[in-house]
Amino acid sequence: MARYTQDSIERLREAIDIVELVSQSTDLRQRGSRWVGLCPFHEERTPSFTVDPREKLYYCFGCHNGGDPITFVRESQALDFAEAVEQLADRYRVELKREREDPQEEERRRRRERLLGLLDRAAGFYATYLWDSSEARKAREYLSGRGLSEDVLRAFRVGYAPSAWDRLLTGARRDGFSEQELHAAGLAQRSQGGRVFDRFRERITFPLADSRGRVLGFGARAMRSEQGAKYLNTAEGELYHKGRHLFGIDQARPAISRERRAVVVEGYTDVLALHQAGVQEAVAIMGTAFTSDQLAELARAVGQDGRIFLALDADSSGQEAMLRVARMAEERQLELRVVELPEGSDPADLAAAEGREGVGTRLQKALSVLEFAVGRVLADADRDSPEGRDRALAQARSLIAQAPERSARRDHLVGLVADGLDVPADYVTSGAIAAAPARRAAAAHDPGPDREHGPPPVSAAVATGPGAASLEAERVFLALCLASGSLGREYLARLQEGHFSSALTRRAGGYLSEHFEDPLESLPVDDTELRELVAGAFLHADEDYAVSESSLQLSFLALDMRRIEREVRQARRDGNFPRVSELASDRQRVRNEMDAVMGQAT
Ligand SMILES: [Zn+2]
Repeated sequence: MARYTQDSIERLREAIDIVELVSQSTDLRQRGSRWVGLCPFHEERTPSFTVDPREKLYYCFGCHNGGDPITFVRESQALDFAEAVEQLADRYRVELKREREDPQEEERRRRRERLLGLLDRAAGFYATYLWDSSEARKAREYLSGRGLSEDVLRAFRVGYAPSAWDRLLTGARRDGFSEQELHAAGLAQRSQGGRVFDRFRERITFPLADSRGRVLGFGARAMRSEQGAKYLNTAEGELYHKGRHLFGIDQARPAISRERRAVVVEGYTDVLALHQAGVQEAVAIMGTAFTSDQLAELARAVGQDGRIFLALDADSSGQEAMLRVARMAEERQLELRVVELPEGSDPADLAAAEGREGVGTRLQKALSVLEFAVGRVLADADRDSPEGRDRALAQARSLIAQAPERSARRDHLVGLVADGLDVPADYVTSGAIAAAPARRAAAAHDPGPDREHGPPPVSAAVATGPGAASLEAERVFLALCLASGSLGREYLARLQEGHFSSALTRRAGGYLSEHFEDPLESLPVDDTELRELVAGAFLHADEDYAVSESSLQLSFLALDMRRIEREVRQARRDGNFPRVSELASDRQRVRNEMDAVMGQAT
């Protein structure tokens, strides 16, 4: 990973004017030595967002978002650390210097850059070929027949791979790329006789880019039915990994970040049609099942309290797969909804027929995954026989069991089933449901035989209503701790059970305090969520990111505030009012400490 020197980052920090930077997102007014304004991270009417120009810190007393200018850019634009640093360096005209890398590392980076350059060059070649060659006339006709405009096709760099065996190879070799590099980039393949030829021929090409717009591979659609696979993707390689990328994420990310929602569709042309209709938050999973990597990427882009809409072909993705994604989303406390598509139509048709407004209406009517699944059970049920209704009832019960107990959501589902099968509601809620949640929680987390503390079911976490913001605050704190050496270790030790809002972060906190020195060493192989969270935190920490003690302090105080607020809610529910007033003074203490940290400079 590209590391910038400590010195570069410091010069950058010095150059940044945090008031000017934040003013791009919200109007600030001076109050004493600080500036205040409406928080850009949550909806509010009275300003609780505070900027300290001397410390170059910001903090919101409403939603507890806080940090330094780099955090601000990362959070408000859904960028990673390096991206945020690069953008700020651009803006404040600071030249970034790279740490001297070890030669192997440098070699790897150079190679990666060459492969990226080669892929970018290929995308340019195919795109030019689509518009300029007579051979691509059929492809142009096909695309315009699908209602796609030249503007949108050019924006996504859609192209055409010629039918000749080696057009790309020849050009790339002439530009000094080796055969080995062409292979590694997934652009060439070898016949059994050892002949090397272009992987993509006579196909419409869709460049697949990462969120920064760097082309990693291609999806390519055949023009003739006898060409074999209708869609051919870049082979799994050094840069392209099946199931990890989202088509269109580079184009969609600003809109996803702004609207705090993403629309996930099946295919390339669905994305193009939606963009053309003004729904720029669309990305495609490209024929694979929706993976946790893809969900993680979208979670970063939608940000806190974001929503993800699945407009997928229900048959191809399968109900099981959808429920699996729903569980992953729940763990991340993201809202996941399913858009019902009229029989036999795809999002591209809808976008063409109904435009942005029509699509918006469908998003508003989107269902929760459980509602959707229950709806399908009801639609498929044989309602005419008592046996058929019992079968459907059993299926519906196992779905309902996945909604938190005593929740409005569960109630709503029970109502749907009772109405749909014409049975009394207490039939639906009888016996079978109560036993199911534990089983389901075990399946979702699979804590393994050797872990002492089985995490509580997700539903418990959701029932206490911590929201995505809490989870994010906990993640950030863990990353800051990792980045801060022995100081971080001290802060980590301050965490108590009550500071965690979810099973996942609780697990991560416990794991990190045991494996602080080498967090990647003994990660449990089967705990994907934990691996992802720890690796993410480690990567942030691995950047040459000098965390000031005050940002660590603020981050901890923010968690403490959330803990207190959760306890206040619980105490209110329990009618324990002495505890509520005790907590109120705790809250005041934390607030004062926050003030003190923010005011250290003044
Ligand atoms: Zn706020």
